[in-house]
Amino acid sequence: MFNEGNASMNGLLGRKGANLAEMVNLKLPVPQGFTITTNACRRFYEEGKIIHPAIEQEILEALAALEHLTGKRFGHRENPLLVSVRSGSSISMPGMMDTILNLGLNDETVAFLVQNEANARFAYDSYRRFIQMFGSIVLDVDGNLFEEELERMKLNSGVELDSELNANHLLTLITTYKEIIVRETGEPFPQNPHTQLMMAIGAVFGSWYNQRAMIYRRIQKIPEHLGTAVTVQEMVFGNLGSTSGTGIAFTRHPSTGNNELFGEFILNAQGEDIVAGIRTPHPLSILKESMPDTFEQFRKAAHTLEQHYHDVQDIEFTVEDTRLYLLQTRAAKRTAAATIKIAVDMANEGLITREQAIMRIDPASLMPLMQYKIDPHADVHVIGYGMNASSGAATGIIVFDAEEAERQHRTGHSVILVRQETTPEDIHGMVASAGVLTTRGGVTSHAAVVARDLGIPSVVGCESFKVNLAERQLHTDSIVLQEGDVVTICGSTGRIIHGEVPLVPPTFTEEFCTLLAWANEYKTLAVYGSVNTPQEARFARKMGAEGVGLCRTELMFMDPVRLPIVARMMLAHSKRERRKALHKLIPLQKQDFLGIFRAMAGCEVTIRLIDPPLHEFLPNPATLALEIERARVAGDEDLLEEKEALQKRIDILHELNPSFGHRGCRIGITYPEVYEIQTRAIAEAALELKAEGITVYPRIIVPLVSHSREMKVVRENVVETLEQVFSVYLDRIDILVGAFVELPRACITADKMVEYADFLTFGTNDLTQSTYGFSRDDAEGRYLAYYLDNNILPENPFSVLDVDGVGELIKIGIERGRKTKPDIKIGVCGEHTSEKQSVRFLQEIGLDFISCLPHRVPSARIAAAQAAILKTRKPK
Ligand code: ADP
Ligand code: MG
Ligand code: MG
Repeated sequence: MFNEGNASMNGLLGRKGANLAEMVNLKLPVPQGFTITTNACRRFYEEGKIIHPAIEQEILEALAALEHLTGKRFGHRENPLLVSVRSGSSISMPGMMDTILNLGLNDETVAFLVQNEANARFAYDSYRRFIQMFGSIVLDVDGNLFEEELERMKLNSGVELDSELNANHLLTLITTYKEIIVRETGEPFPQNPHTQLMMAIGAVFGSWYNQRAMIYRRIQKIPEHLGTAVTVQEMVFGNLGSTSGTGIAFTRHPSTGNNELFGEFILNAQGEDIVAGIRTPHPLSILKESMPDTFEQFRKAAHTLEQHYHDVQDIEFTVEDTRLYLLQTRAAKRTAAATIKIAVDMANEGLITREQAIMRIDPASLMPLMQYKIDPHADVHVIGYGMNASSGAATGIIVFDAEEAERQHRTGHSVILVRQETTPEDIHGMVASAGVLTTRGGVTSHAAVVARDLGIPSVVGCESFKVNLAERQLHTDSIVLQEGDVVTICGSTGRIIHGEVPLVPPTFTEEFCTLLAWANEYKTLAVYGSVNTPQEARFARKMGAEGVGLCRTELMFMDPVRLPIVARMMLAHSKRERRKALHKLIPLQKQDFLGIFRAMAGCEVTIRLIDPPLHEFLPNPATLALEIERARVAGDEDLLEEKEALQKRIDILHELNPSFGHRGCRIGITYPEVYEIQTRAIAEAALELKAEGITVYPRIIVPLVSHSREMKVVRENVVETLEQVFSVYLDRIDILVGAFVELPRACITADKMVEYADFLTFGTNDLTQSTYGFSRDDAEGRYLAYYLDNNILPENPFSVLDVDGVGELIKIGIERGRKTKPDIKIGVCGEHTSEKQSVRFLQEIGLDFISCLPHRVPSARIAAAQAAILKTRKPK
């Protein structure tokens, strides 16, 4: 019975049942009832989908108790008890399972409603709803058959709303409905209320395995074994006339978080009308106007519930002839913005603590608040429109296939993937893109759905654009764009804009700033930004980054001035020639470092020496082939010779598996002059700023080391170069040299590695690839989805750190590294650093810092604060 339960029993009673019990304990107006436990549901399935006689016996006893409480008799022609049979799991699955209303009605009991309430319309409306629900949910009759008859009846009687049908119409419908049931099932509609009840309970248990519930569970990762409870509750009637109705309300606004009662109400209707969206509801004010006392009573009850649960409630209620009944309460689902405002407001109101406010935020949910927008004052050249499929703005070079997107992304480019439409095979390219543009498809197309899921901006169905794959071009009537040209897409408005446009970083509400400030009071891990450019460094700092944990330098080789120099270097036949070409890059790179150091004055800036295979800086073979063809046609011998030499070089450098190719420190070892010029540019920039009086803390990190001897060789080269610069500048500066640990061997030999490394940073993205032997793009594009669906892996290890494998390697690395150098600073870079579970683990194993992309810094700060709070709360 409701009075035997409470909110903490939701595992057994389901959330709905437990909260109904809690509301009864709070003496709120709740129709009486009882709940059949989730244990009974599990038994139902174990015993082959039958309700065990012992359980049936208990149900009948509870029913008798309910009769006693209500003074009504189930199935009796005088004052019959009518009930709803409601589903409800311990994790709320809104609308995914079934509920049946008005149960207990039959040809006899309906007569009582007609007499007593002097309201035949209401009686027949309830009965017809019951037959319809019972028929489709319990007897498995196609629900459309009933809907069609209802529509026909409305059409024939010239009315628009269900509520306008009169008693005679409804009586005719009831007869028709019963005929449908006989026709479809071969049996008459069951008249015995006990039979109805047991069948309905079985069907509600059964709805645990209906299709929408199964899909919802898979998406939400809700375990199968939970099962659903079934609540049997006395009916109250919102369809009793103009002083009745049904509503849903939130104690605070679910999208803004404003502290105001917000909701909807329908007069003269039953709950399912509002839940299923059958009729368009009115704002809650209609209740306030038509029944001010009832409204006031509801307002008070809502306030009581919020105070009691310390959280915003989503409440279902019904008014029967001005009397208020509460039928459900649960923590309200809300937007990211509302989550933050509500958490901070409630902490300020003293309803919850600051720690609780921080713990309520899912770091991952902050992403929509972090998107850049196009500067509203900017002068932009719009070249087309499509549908706004996934919000946010992105600027990048256009590429026409997933492979090219990946390639350009790896070398540090921001790319916009342009396709006619995307398919599942394109997923690896989408993951690598800053934005996705398609010329076909709508807002539910593959591109749109996946982009929203990945949180990247997307514009779809830009039909004025044509993709010419052979020429690698994108046309409209007025413009032709080549692969590599820059466009900006605005996924919020659907605009396609030529070139780069000024973007404005997201602005934060006062509450968000407050919350982040609170996070800093709790967290102990330092949060750094992973950036490529001075602009990103400035943004990261604004987001609260305490330094740069990773600055990738590949982008610095990538602009139109520098690329030919890189190509020349690659074609050079001797070390001298190579060095000559490279020297031209020093002043250019120095500019980049000056910008980043300035943006991060007073903080550590960790710069990674070049990492991708050098041939990635050479032109795309397909484009090159086209250029060769053009040079041949034009008869330009010199150009032809140069391009053919390049092509030959590309062929030679071609690698079967670039992930494990000639890259990282392997480049620095075989072409020491590459790392040398980078080191020079870093040291010169640092010393020049020092001369200006700006404090900088540069750190150099060496990628992809596996053996300590690699680290030794690179370190010696770096240190020697630094000394040369210092002697020229007649000044010096401390520059630490660390190892980027992203291969299992480096973890296991960390004790030796740290002999040559001043700090260690684990790169969890690549460490996950090298530990599993998964190439991420192939995995995510091909088999990982299958693995996840079939529970071969519990989580995507690229999103949630694999604690048992990758995590263990990190632990080993930390232990062994600190054995040799107890005070060495150790951190982690990678996507995992803003994911709550992963950060919690990283905190536990004793890291000093985490580094993430600038727009994830706020998430990382929250995750770090949560990890610190959980750590101190943990029983020692
Ligand atoms: P869901 O989980 O899909 O919301 P519910 O069990 O909450 O399903 O019921 C569906 C609708 O029926 C809701 O609007 C609810 O308020 C209403 N309802 C459920 N039980 C009763 C009852 N005993 N009296 C009146 N309305 C009810
Ligand atoms: Mg409900
Ligand atoms: Mg790497």
